[in-house]
Amino acid sequence: MSIICPSHDPTPLVTAGEGEVEARARLRVVRPQGRPRRLLLCLDGVPFEVISGAKSRGMFDDFEEPARLLSPFPTLTNVALAEMLGATPPAGYESLYFDREAKELRGGVRKYIGRRTPDKIPSSYMDELDYQEPLAFEFLIYVATDAVWRADMRRFRERFLSAPPSRDFFGFLKATDGLLHIGGPERLTVALQSLDRLLREIREAAGSETEIVLFSDHGMNLVENRRVNLLTHLGGNGYEVVTNMRRPRGKRRVSAPGFGLCGYAALYCGDETGRAELAETLTGLEGVDFSVYREEGGRAALVAGASGRARIERRERVGETFYRYEQLDGDPLGLNETARSLGAEGRLDVNGFARDADWLARTWGHTYPDALANVYASIYTPRVQHTADVLVSLRDGYYYGATSFSRMVRLLATHGNALRSSSHAFLMSTHRAFPTHVRSAEARPVLRG
Ligand SMILES: [Zn+2]
Repeated sequence: MSIICPSHDPTPLVTAGEGEVEARARLRVVRPQGRPRRLLLCLDGVPFEVISGAKSRGMFDDFEEPARLLSPFPTLTNVALAEMLGATPPAGYESLYFDREAKELRGGVRKYIGRRTPDKIPSSYMDELDYQEPLAFEFLIYVATDAVWRADMRRFRERFLSAPPSRDFFGFLKATDGLLHIGGPERLTVALQSLDRLLREIREAAGSETEIVLFSDHGMNLVENRRVNLLTHLGGNGYEVVTNMRRPRGKRRVSAPGFGLCGYAALYCGDETGRAELAETLTGLEGVDFSVYREEGGRAALVAGASGRARIERRERVGETFYRYEQLDGDPLGLNETARSLGAEGRLDVNGFARDADWLARTWGHTYPDALANVYASIYTPRVQHTADVLVSLRDGYYYGATSFSRMVRLLATHGNALRSSSHAFLMSTHRAFPTHVRSAEARPVLRG
């Protein structure tokens, strides 16, 4: 397991039997005829701004300009890759999660141990991977980052060069995430230089007709992060933080699975615990940006933060999607100006709804990219099987997670919130120029089509 955001992969290839690996390989997608072979390579946690900076310094010059791949909130590997690849949603946001049916915490570190068995596969996107780092690397990345990165690249190179040239190849390099968390952007830049060299070598070996598509699952803030005092705050406000809710009633129960050191928190409420009141309580906690939850008996997403409250409503009309941002008090998502300009251009209907495409066109580069569709979907679509009752987005500079992990590291970067630094992943190709931005839910045809 890795210490910082260990949700990535509880199913190391290294422990899988040969037969198992072969059986899973048969499930992989075969390359559609009529287009070049494709090497698809995901770099865990590399932000758009880092890759575009590297490119402006002359690296990756065989590639077209990168697009911003809009990572879904909360910006975490399994959530993002499941959505980008149109795969099954993982059980929880990370490998420790609250199971709503069983009413208890499930998973955790034990999920990392032992053989790769079907119950340990978090999402079906993993069936498509031809390469991912062995388990031992996830332990080592924090003590021997550069050595692990080099070994990861070497294994990927060997695996790719010995793969059947008639098929696409999908690799996932996870060491980049750990390098950023622990070493910050300078360490990652050195790693990207070696990746740039490796990709040149691979292009020579595979031929320039092979398309290389490089992308990331989520971005990352590049600031030092500290722990948010979530549990103390909840306790101090009369909440009981529990690991299960099997007994009928307690006082106001909340479950708050804390695992990787990431910029979000997923809260689950007991029957007696009001979501609105809980979200309100959190507005007073340093490091909390906003919370989002489903409206009681309604169909809106309610957003509550230190800078106000708002309702997001979604409507379908003749096959088109519309959103409305209703400011109840203040402007928690900073969309007041956008809404005003949509109105000035005559793009709001009498009820204040505008087309999803109009919101996207104006907010893909916003502080909260694609805020309305993204934040609304975070609680109304199954990005995970056990969606939180209250999903909390922290400010850059703050994380929540297991206390045992946070004692061990200085965190120079992290991800998980709905801000631009974590939401702007990247996507670029040697053969195709992409638009400025691609939504993760619309990425599959681009990646695998
Ligand atoms: Zn991470």
